[in-house]
Amino acid sequence: MIILIKKYVDFFSFSTIIYYKTIIFKVFTVKYMNNQSGILQLNSIKKNNRQALLRELYLGGPMSRVELSRRLNCNGTTTTRGIRNLMECGLVLEGQLEKIQQGRPRRILKFNSAKMKSIGIEISPGKIVAIIADLSGKILLRDQVRFSVDIESDELMACLDEVTDRLLAEVPKDERLGVGVATFGHFHHDSRIIEKAAGFHAIEHTDIEKHFIKKFNIKPEIIDGTLALAYNQTQTRQSGQGICVTLNLGRGIGHVVTINGKAVSTRDSHPGEFGHTSCEINGLLCSCGRRGCLETVSSIGALLKKVSEEYRPMEFDELCSTWHKNPVLTDIVNYAATYLAAGIANLINITVPDKLILCGELLKLGDQFTDKLKEQLKEYAIQQLIEYLDISIPKFDSYSISLGATSPLIRKFFE
Ligand SMILES: [Zn+2]
Repeated sequence: MIILIKKYVDFFSFSTIIYYKTIIFKVFTVKYMNNQSGILQLNSIKKNNRQALLRELYLGGPMSRVELSRRLNCNGTTTTRGIRNLMECGLVLEGQLEKIQQGRPRRILKFNSAKMKSIGIEISPGKIVAIIADLSGKILLRDQVRFSVDIESDELMACLDEVTDRLLAEVPKDERLGVGVATFGHFHHDSRIIEKAAGFHAIEHTDIEKHFIKKFNIKPEIIDGTLALAYNQTQTRQSGQGICVTLNLGRGIGHVVTINGKAVSTRDSHPGEFGHTSCEINGLLCSCGRRGCLETVSSIGALLKKVSEEYRPMEFDELCSTWHKNPVLTDIVNYAATYLAAGIANLINITVPDKLILCGELLKLGDQFTDKLKEQLKEYAIQQLIEYLDISIPKFDSYSISLGATSPLIRKFFE
């Protein structure tokens, strides 16, 4: 009997040791695997699922859980769990019952775009334009400060502080997604310090990020103004589909090429220099130091300069309302339109876009100007490329760049 018990104890002890060894091995293996491939893999999967559900509701909603599962090709349990979590966070709302032909009615889910708010600020020569927008890009508040283009650097930062203070006061801390700043001029990719801004020297060498951290304890997302405009125009799944060329026509001339909403042909956040492509050999001196750039012929500054020399000085708004009634002014505007069209046609011939989006203050010249531009485009671009090109001219909105400044925040939120 004693022998039997001893044998049993020995057997039990041996089994226990094997069992513990297995546990120790498993613990070691799990720890090792986690260290190799990222801790909390399960949580990463959950987060990815959650983000995918949220993104689909944002881009394609509202819809039922069944529809959401179908679109993402995932099972109902994953969807139900993920949605429960998103509803607890207040990012998804459950709406009315949807009646269907067969089966039980389904609850419609809606992305709650009002849950978080972003602040977007555009700094450009003569003005700071700012907005508060929700996650769907709906502008909730607009604000702006105007100043002379010859403003001093410290005065410019004081204006920036004034606008930022006002907007921050309107958004409770727990609803703030962040602050996006769209700038004018070339900035250094890593430091985000503006190195050169032709005609707007107050912004040169300013460290906006450092200033924001010191003053507001907020790290802003800094983005090129034309890139912000392009992101604003290609934000939705439908509007950003395919190859799009977004043009910013105004005091400067800029372009951005996007493919399915993602900017391409950019280096170090710099989308290119369409405005500084040569169009006249030995032409007028440009702010970049070279001669004959497109901006010396077709920008607002170039137009006003020529109007002043050949007619009389006037503001751009006056030119917009009078040019088509005056033969001298009509010739000046048509000349600028022709060169601009030739430049855009080159861009079309090189990039072969599906969509051309014309934006910017220059379009305040009205339908006669855009008609002239389109007519000339047909002449200069390759016929097969222009024939099926979708040319979009959104209504001019002086807040679209500041709204686009919130795009990096929203894109990060859904990553
Ligand atoms: Zn130039």
